Amino acid sequence: MNTKLFPEIVLNWIDGAEKGATDGALFNNLSPASGKMLCQAVGSKQADVDRAVAAAKNAYPAWAGMTPVQRGDILMAIARNMRENAETIAAIVAAETGMAPSAALGETGGAIAQAEFMAGEGRRLYGRTTTSAVPNKYAMTVRHPLGVAGLIIAANTPIANVAWKVFPALICGNTAVLKAAEDTPATAWYFGKLAQEAGLPSGVLNILQGLGEAAGAPLVAHPDVAVVSFTGSTAVGRQIAETAGRRLAKVSLELGGKNPLVVCDDADLDNAVKWVVLSAFSNAGQRCAAGSRIIVFDAVYDQFRELLVAATQRLKVGPTDMDDLGPVINETQLTNMVAAVEQASQEGAHVLIGGSRMTTPDHADGFYMAPTVIENADPRSGISTQEVFGPITCLYRVSDFDAALQMANDSPYGLTACIHSRNVHRVMEFTQKVQAGVAVVNAGTYGSEPHMPFGGVKQSGNGSREPGTEALDIYSNLKDIYICVEPDLI
Ligand code: NAD
Repeated sequence: MNTKLFPEIVLNWIDGAEKGATDGALFNNLSPASGKMLCQAVGSKQADVDRAVAAAKNAYPAWAGMTPVQRGDILMAIARNMRENAETIAAIVAAETGMAPSAALGETGGAIAQAEFMAGEGRRLYGRTTTSAVPNKYAMTVRHPLGVAGLIIAANTPIANVAWKVFPALICGNTAVLKAAEDTPATAWYFGKLAQEAGLPSGVLNILQGLGEAAGAPLVAHPDVAVVSFTGSTAVGRQIAETAGRRLAKVSLELGGKNPLVVCDDADLDNAVKWVVLSAFSNAGQRCAAGSRIIVFDAVYDQFRELLVAATQRLKVGPTDMDDLGPVINETQLTNMVAAVEQASQEGAHVLIGGSRMTTPDHADGFYMAPTVIENADPRSGISTQEVFGPITCLYRVSDFDAALQMANDSPYGLTACIHSRNVHRVMEFTQKVQAGVAVVNAGTYGSEPHMPFGGVKQSGNGSREPGTEALDIYSNLKDIYICVEPDLI
């Protein structure tokens, strides 16, 4: 099946032109909703990475030499082109991920907001002026680009992930090579097309299709790549940090999560259930911020469990706007999820609902995991400590606030966290003491807004923050400038 939204063979964008792999390699991209072929994409390797990095390096002096306002104007033209073609972007996102068209349109809106915010940075890109200890001396900082940025992204929210990396990298004056996620090649390809149409100079943004080891790893190792920004799993992030660290390249890592949501005995339980369902199951649980550890006070545990299982039972699974969640991205991920649940069951956990691949006629050909709620999992077991990246969440019973906070923090990850309570003292204590990059009260474990910094602590990242103006710190270097005035010459 090809929807005609994109070509049957999705090519790379290198130096403003579409290019196949130097060795002609291709890989298949399947629809998660139907299991059928959507398109093929270029299987880039070292030689293609070399071509893309060379193009970016060649384009760098002219792009870095423009004023930030000029760059911002071009990036704003791309944002406008995205807005004019938002329905097409969303249709491609929906085809490649299986998410509902309305959800894909929502994600596209977020990507455009990100684009507009960063394009506007062209008129700010602030440095700092400050005082000096020395008379007649003036001190200030300015931002300088780094060179070629290597950008590597996951498939879960494909157009948002593209915007999240590309706009801050380019506004700062870097040129870039983006390695698209292998499950969503057409989304990245279409973005490249929109950028060309909007007037982005050739070579400023190069987009490579390909698999992680073959195309991503050579980009990370390339000596001409000055900064690597990665969104993906903690395991791959660790490899990237090691490789880039050897040549002291700058690295930003936005990694996984095992996000806790605490339901206190004074919570509005209906509101808590609503948000737990959204946190755990929206985008089929394929969110770094997904709520996967639901920590509930003993006093309301039984009542909450009953409400949550009933709400999960009501969820509709499928790729349309009538559905609450869609398929997971590919069959390998689905197989891993089923295996994780089976392992948890063997270790004594109890599956309250779901737990398996959906095999009803509407679902059998796609990659559908039934929304799953588990209880009695050992907090130290695999299902409690490792990210599953699917519609699977675990319930834990705790006696009180201290036990809840301790369990929330007892994780290798620290990306987002949430508490449901009406007690201002509890929520303030939680937001201060929870080990996470984002803390939320009375809503869900959700990501940030385009103008806010997002990122995690512990194994959820390396301390960098994207997006927000904080992303500018990743893609630019600060230079101190001191100007000394000679009063006798005035
Ligand atoms: P993944 O780490 O397997 O792949 C992510 C990207 O890295 C892909 O483009 C892949 O091709 C590439 N890659 C794989 N191996 C590589 C290597 N050796 N060298 C260079 N690149 C390589 O992750 P995934 O399963 O595709 O995505 C899900 C993960 O992404 C989850 O852990 C999720 O939490 C995380 N994520 C994090 C954020 C965040 O902002 N913190 C946002 C979205 C997703």
